[in-house]
This record gives sequence, structure tokens and C-alpha cells, in this order.
Amino acid sequence: SGARVRRAHSKRLPQYMERGVDVKFKDVAGLGNIRLELEEIVKFFTMGEVYRRRGVKIPGGILLCGPPGVGKTLLAKAVAGEAGVNFFSISASQFVEIYVGVGASRVRALYQEARDNAPSVVFIDELDAVGRERGLIKGSGGQERDATLNQLLVCLDGFEGRGDVITIAATNRPDILDPALVRPGRFDRKIYIPKPSLAGRVEILKVHAQKKPMAEDVDYVAVASMTEGMVGAELANIVEIAAINMMRDGRVEITTDDLLQAAQIEERGMLDKKERSEEMWKRLALNEAAMAVVAVNFPDLKNIEFVTISPRAGRELGYVRVKMDHLKFSSGMLSRQSLLDHITVQIAPRAADEIWYGEEQLSTIWAETADNARSAARSFVLGGLSEKFYGLADFWVVDRINEIDLEALHILSKCYERANKILKQNRILMDKVVDELVTKKSLTKQEFFHLVEENGQFDPYPPSI
Ligand code: ADP
Repeated sequence: SGARVRRAHSKRLPQYMERGVDVKFKDVAGLGNIRLELEEIVKFFTMGEVYRRRGVKIPGGILLCGPPGVGKTLLAKAVAGEAGVNFFSISASQFVEIYVGVGASRVRALYQEARDNAPSVVFIDELDAVGRERGLIKGSGGQERDATLNQLLVCLDGFEGRGDVITIAATNRPDILDPALVRPGRFDRKIYIPKPSLAGRVEILKVHAQKKPMAEDVDYVAVASMTEGMVGAELANIVEIAAINMMRDGRVEITTDDLLQAAQIEERGMLDKKERSEEMWKRLALNEAAMAVVAVNFPDLKNIEFVTISPRAGRELGYVRVKMDHLKFSSGMLSRQSLLDHITVQIAPRAADEIWYGEEQLSTIWAETADNARSAARSFVLGGLSEKFYGLADFWVVDRINEIDLEALHILSKCYERANKILKQNRILMDKVVDELVTKKSLTKQEFFHLVEENGQFDPYPPSI
């Protein structure tokens, strides 16, 4: 009788689990009612049995939507922290691997661990990296991603209604997710987390100040007023920078001035991040030039005030400011044709990118405006404005979603052709606008229209649909 060698317990250490998550809701500030919704999710853990007995459906997954740094990860951790359950996290961009099958097997491993250590929260950051609508990405990378996405769908379905593993995902682009992901039982609950308001920024600054030696008379409102547009992550940074300021000067308290200076440093940092390559400037210029050049054709959109690609304009990329007849818009007096014109302008950057750079070199700079065009086309059809569905009211269409989408696509492609035609006819004008934009970053109304008059090639009656 030999000694029996006991095999070591073969279960591997969980690699996706974060230990000792002690974030609580009190650490997440400035979110108002959103917190209540998350508190309900905690109850799925603590009172899951009661819910189930009463036939209340527990959501499969929760989608936190919002720009980077607003606290989506923090919130997901707080859910785990408050419920006292394990927290598993991965960024979906890590799923998208070169080798076929790796992504899918990672998803499986992640969920296996979460199940072995249930109750647990699975947090998937950047869901859109893997959850983009199928078919939007071509080539072998796309296939790999589809396998990963399919695996994720399988895992989500496996936990439906059980309530012991809840998936929380974060994305800045809920609009481009594959419809299969947001079906009932999957990510069927969406929570939007906007950038914080003035009051929200005050709250967030105060939460981070709690751990620091603050002077008693710190004016948080003043700092919050200076930081319009900033998110929690940036505000947290400001408090850190202010603390370093204080230390460097050998003081023992952080003052309002420290915070204000830190806010400036943070803001400048943001601008520096917007340093762009020559190539990037050109692409951006093409984007904005296309919108402007197409817009001058249309009565409701032709009053262009300026065109800019300057990061200081306060927007991410750049924009074309059009002076609109607001009364016309707000009173719903916008004509059917104007809506089509609007779609045409929004799809123009996509058309231009293809004309100037070719299908092989397409960028995704136009993604946002193309999405605007897509959703406008859909509203157009749903509103009963397309010929095929004249007079169709919203509530009749539940069974006809496919037809609606096809018709929206049809409208979109018509608008695309129209933008394409105008742009091809105006290559010279486009090149000049792009050149001037790249050098000057912004064009005034006079500068832009001067170029239009010298180089524009417009039909007196622009192609209509
Ligand atoms: P996201 O996941 O939305 O990109 P994070 O949750 O990762 O943002 O935020 C990064 C950090 O910024 C957090 O760890 C926290 O320090 C701070 N932060 C962000 N939002 C908030 C908030 N609403 N309240 C308090 N701190 C915040």
C-alpha cells in the first residue's frame, strides 16, 4: 500500500477577481437619482429570493452609459461593495485578440470564475469594443469579435433571472451595440450617467476632499464653476494636484487657490491631450468641410456662421455652426425636405472620407455624425414621412421593425448618394476649405462664403429625393 498522493486542489486562482472591493455608494457623488436605481440592483442580491418568489424578474445585465470618467466603474464597484459580493472585471478591449478563439475563451473563464465565486458582479468595461453591431466590422477581426460576442450572449443567457451573478457593463456608445445584446434578459436595463452638473461637481469635489486636509473656508462652488464640462475623474485629479501644490509650499491645508490653480493645470492638460497629428487635422478638416459644403445647398441649413476644427471650440472634434430659424424648429415647422437635408449633411463626412481616402483608408472620424444620420433616418420613417410609410403612426409598427429599418436604410443611402454627388462636384472647393481649415483651424462666415463663391459648383436645384 503506497502513500496516496493527494492531488492538489486543481482550481486555479481566479484571475479576474478583484479582492477587497470596499467602495460604497457614499463614495460616488453627484449622481442624484441614478444612485436609487443602483440601490435597487443591490437588492437583487440581498433580497433575490423574495423577488423571485413574487415573480419579479431580475435583469440579466445593466448597461451604464456615459462618457469616460463619470464614475461607471466606481458605481459597479459600489454595487458589489454594498451588496458584499465578489467583483470581477475585464475590459472588453482585452477580449478582442488577434488569435481566434481567445476572446471567447476569456469570456467563458470570466463567467466560470464569477459562478464559482457567486454571488458576484461581473463588470465589463468598453462593451462596445466587442458589442458593436455585427456586420459593422469587416474582415477576420470581425469574425473573431463575433465569436466573442456570441459567447458573451451565451453566458448572459445562462444567468438570466438567477440573480446571483449580475453583469454590469459600461459603454460610451450604447447606440452602436448589437441589438442582440440589449434584448430582454440581457442588457435590458440602461442607465445613463451624464457629466456632472454644477451641484454634482461640488459634491464630487467634496467627496474627494474628505480624505485631504482642506482649509475650512474652501469655496467649492467657485472651483465647480471653473470646471464646467469636467467629469469625476478630472475633479478627483484636481484635488490630488492641489494637495501636491500644498505640500510643495510646505503648507498644511489645501486652499481654494490651490484648487483653482489645479483646475487650470488639469484643463491645460486636457488641451495638450488634444495635440493632433497633421493627418488628424486633415481628416477633421475634411469632416467639417464636407458638412459645410453640403449644407450650403439647403435652405434651412445654409446660414453657416463658422466652421472650426479648433479643440478650443469646446467640442471633441470640431463643428459647423449654422444659424437656424429656431422658431421653425421648435414649432415643428421643419419640412420633410429639411429633414432629408439634415440627414444628407450628417452623412456627408462619411461620403467625403471615402471619396478622399478610399474604402481601404476609411477612418471612423465620421462615426458620430453617421449615427446622427442613422437615427434621424429612422425617426423620419417612424414619423410616417417616408413615401413607403406615409401616415404610419409609431404604435402600429411593433411587428414591422424590419421593414422600418430597411426603409431607413433606403433613405440613408439616397441621402448618401446626394451628399456624394455634391461633394464630387465640389472637389476644388473642398480642397480649399480643408487647406484653410488646417492652417487657420477656424473659418469665419465671410472666409467660408468667399471660398464658396469663388469655387462652388452648385446646381440651382440641388438633387432632391
Ligand atoms: P468611468 O468608469 O466612467 O470611466 P471611473 O469610475 O473609472 O469612470 O472613474 C475614475 C475615478 O474618478 C474614480 O475612481 C473616482 O476617483 C473618480 N470619480 C469619477 N466619477 C466620480 C463620482 N461620480 N464621484 C466620485 N468620484 C468619481
